[in-house]
Order: sequence, then C-alpha cells, then structure tokens
Amino acid sequence: SETILEIDDLSTQFFTSEGKVNAVHGFDLELERGEVFGIVGESGSGKSVTALSLMDLVESPGRITSGSVGYRNPSFAENMRTSYPDAVDGDLVDLRAIPEDARRSLRGTAFSMIFQDPESSFNPSLTVGEQIAEAVEVQQRATAMPRSGRAKTRGPEYSLGSYLMSMALPSKRYVTESSRARAIELLETVGIPDPAQRADEYPHEYSGGMLQRAMIAQALASEPDVLIADEPTTALDVTIQAQILDLLNELQAETGMTILLITHNLGVVARMCDRVGVMYAGEIVERGTLEDVFDDTVHPYTKGLLGSVPDLEGTADRLQAISGNVPSLLDHEMGDRCYFADRCPKAMDTCLEKPRSFDVDADGRHSVTCYLAEENYDPDRALEEGRF
Ligand code: SF4
Ligand code: MG
Repeated sequence: SETILEIDDLSTQFFTSEGKVNAVHGFDLELERGEVFGIVGESGSGKSVTALSLMDLVESPGRITSGSVGYRNPSFAENMRTSYPDAVDGDLVDLRAIPEDARRSLRGTAFSMIFQDPESSFNPSLTVGEQIAEAVEVQQRATAMPRSGRAKTRGPEYSLGSYLMSMALPSKRYVTESSRARAIELLETVGIPDPAQRADEYPHEYSGGMLQRAMIAQALASEPDVLIADEPTTALDVTIQAQILDLLNELQAETGMTILLITHNLGVVARMCDRVGVMYAGEIVERGTLEDVFDDTVHPYTKGLLGSVPDLEGTADRLQAISGNVPSLLDHEMGDRCYFADRCPKAMDTCLEKPRSFDVDADGRHSVTCYLAEENYDPDRALEEGRF
C-alpha cells in the first residue's frame, strides 16, 4: 500500500514567558492510505498539538519550527509543481514548503477534523442541515475552481478559532437544493433518524451522540482523504461511544479514507486502529501494529499503559497509575536523558543519554525509542549497571 502522509521530523514549540516548550519534537509518521492509525498518550503528551500541527492550526504562542508534512495526491502535486517545484517530489507535496494559503485550501477539502466537543464546530443559531450544506458547498466550490483559485476558499486567519468559524458560519441558507439534499443524505449515512426533518433543527435540539454524528457528517461532506479525529468520543457515555466508533469504522471501510485517531483510551485504539503510536513527552516512543504494541510490547511506558485490560471504560485512571510525573517540556529543563527515565523501572546508566528509535523487527514496522529495543542489547547490562 502507498503512503498518503509522510511526516518527517516535525517539531512544534510554544514560546512562553517561562521559556520554549517542546510540545512536539522530532515527530515522524508515515500514514498508509486507508488505514486507521491511533496516537495514544496521556494528556500533555503532545497528541492534540500533533493533530493541530498537521491541520496547520497551531495558535500563537505556538509555532511549527521544523519538519515536513508530505501529502500524496497526484492532482494536487501537479498543480503545485509549476509554482513550487521544490515542494513537490513525484506525487508528494511538502505542505510545509508551499504558502499558507495553498496549504489552508486543503482544510475542509482533503483534510477534515472532528473534535471531542461537537458544540464547538456548530453555530448555535443555524440549523444543522444548513451547516452541513455549507460544508458540501465548500467542497463543491473547491472542486469546481481551478486549483490556483482554491487558495481563496478559506479565510486568512491561521488559527483553530477561525477554522471552526469558517466551518460554522454559512454565508447563505441552502444556496442550492442539491447541497441540502446532500446534507440530508449525509445525516442519513451517519445514522440520524428522520434526516430531512432533523436537518432543519438547531444544534441544541440534538443529543450529544446525535450531534457527534452530525459533526462526522459535516466532516464527510468534504470527502476527505484524511480524517483527523481528536478524542471524538470522550465526552459520550460508553454505549454511545461504541456506536460512534463502529460508525467511523463503517464509514472508513466505505470511503477508503485514512483516519488519524487521537485518544488517551487504549480500548478505543483496540476497537478502531490498524496501527498505533504511543506518545510520551512530545514524541512517539513505540509504534507498530496492534499486535506489535499490545502483545509484543517493548517500551516500559507502553507496558505501564497496558497495566490494565484495554476496554472502553476506566483506562484513563490506569494511565495515571504509572508513578511519577510527565517530564517538563521546557526546552531548558528537558535535558539529554531518556524522557521516561525518572519513571522507568528499567532505567540504567545508558539511559542518561537519550535513546534513538530502534527497529524491533526486520521490516521496520515495530519501532521503539528505548535501549531495550537495541539490537545488541544485553539484558544483563541493565542488571550490572543498575539504576542510576
Ligand atoms: Fe527506560 Fe532506559 Fe528505555 Fe528510557 S531508554 S524507557 S529509561 S530503559
Ligand atoms: Mg487533547
């Protein structure tokens, strides 16, 4: 299978009065077309900042400070090639190397995002149907327009707030009958009963689960290549969570879209994902298939996370059961040791120097940022060296 996103060495920093905060650093990820990839970690591990970085929605005082985000799309590559030849390599466009407006034109078209709180993506004073119809029209305008004009379909602001506003503020009511019809169809697709009637209702008339479904419909309106879902079911009760996750799975299978799912919940990962990356202190410390990470676990942090049986309930508490604190991400406090060293039961002198990522298997599918994964690692060494 081919990659759709190739993220290389991505770093996002926040410039605060206390210093530079390395929220995400040296982040590498290749997403395969049509897969569901889960990023799991505690709050503060940088997983949401990663999602915002991919959507180019990092707000001041944050800024992406390095790295590339390669997006594979033959027609987009073709359109970018003439103006930005250095940003294009075959079918792959480095989104960090094209101007902001061209990059932003992909939001709500090639890339969609759903959030924990659906209320934040709907305008309370417009009907749900109107807002989904608007998302349909954004996509239609983008498709109808020559690519050079696509850049103008989004506002100039570079922020999450403006993204949500642009999604939530239709310029006109049902500009076309066809967009209304498509909105109703989408509501039906996500399992809203009586969709034609519900389309004319306002967000407050929807239950939490129904509004979450409507937000998914809005995200699907753009027929995205990549759907980024940040804790999409966290606010819902367990039964509804399961229904929404199953819905996302079905929609993924039907559309072939790629999903990047951000969650603190290992049960959600187990239910949804093909592959998973465990995030700690701004970087992925273990990645692989579900079997690699859940059954052949190497990283002591992952082992700690898995200290409980993954299910939809209760895993959040277990994440905090690993003793010690998440390290400071302040640049001048991070130091050179393994970021997990202070909490790690296996820490040894070697760990005073930060480990790189090691491949555990021959095809490089399972990789781990820990000396325990080093090819010639000698388990006796840890015993000899002891804990520093
Ligand atoms: Fe623990 Fe050392 Fe591995 Fe870090 S590198 S997780 S301290 S064993
Ligand atoms: Mg978050």
